[in-house]
Amino acid sequence: MEFIERSSEPAYLSENKKQWTKHWVDHYRENKNVNGKLLKERKPSDSHWLHDLIRKVLINDFKNNCGYCGSIRPTPISEEARVPRGHVDHYRAKAKYPELTYEWTNYIWSCESCNVEKGEFDDLEYPILNPCELSDCGIVEFIIDTGAYCIKNMCQAHKLRFKNTEEKTMINANVINVKRKNRVKFIISNFETINTLMPFSNDNESINELIKENIKNILNSLEDQEFYFLIQKNYLDLRDKHIDVAKLIDDNCS
Ligand SMILES: [Zn+2]
Repeated sequence: MEFIERSSEPAYLSENKKQWTKHWVDHYRENKNVNGKLLKERKPSDSHWLHDLIRKVLINDFKNNCGYCGSIRPTPISEEARVPRGHVDHYRAKAKYPELTYEWTNYIWSCESCNVEKGEFDDLEYPILNPCELSDCGIVEFIIDTGAYCIKNMCQAHKLRFKNTEEKTMINANVINVKRKNRVKFIISNFETINTLMPFSNDNESINELIKENIKNILNSLEDQEFYFLIQKNYLDLRDKHIDVAKLIDDNCS
């Protein structure tokens, strides 16, 4: 899980959230009989979080990546488009925290699989990791050889939060791990190839061509938006590790 920095709350949400939230709080908190059973069967039908003035800001912050697993689900062109699409996930479920229904920091852009899997799951003590919390992201690290995430230490609380995250999202789903591993290994191998070829590049046309091809691969890789934050992080690490290659890439771009 990679850290995602959220931009400030969209004005459209700030201006309206008080009145929008009221319906949800009334429904879940007020309309109960003495046994705590809901009196109104039907929950509120509004979903203003899907409004473009809110949703598009979220999609942009997340670069359309699922906050939990990093995969991309195409955003529909129209509401009628029947394609798998991203969701605005309520990190804390509406039914349990109606006060947070229109809270900007409660929204996580998420793939359909993670959103459905997570459902209304809630563990107060060991909540699933939140990609917009730097300290939560610091609990896990990415393993290049497997493409999976694991926890950095054996702290019991971290272990339980990570276990919940693994069970309730696709963070370590096999198919996604394989894609992640391949994407990161590809960019590493291109950096390493350039690094190996550079000492032999003097006036050697074919070696220069090969280097150019590898640079192109790296630049194309950066343009692919899936696993955006993971790829960016690895790219910056590789630039630090291979300073001469980084300089060559910059020269090539200028
Ligand atoms: Zn996901």
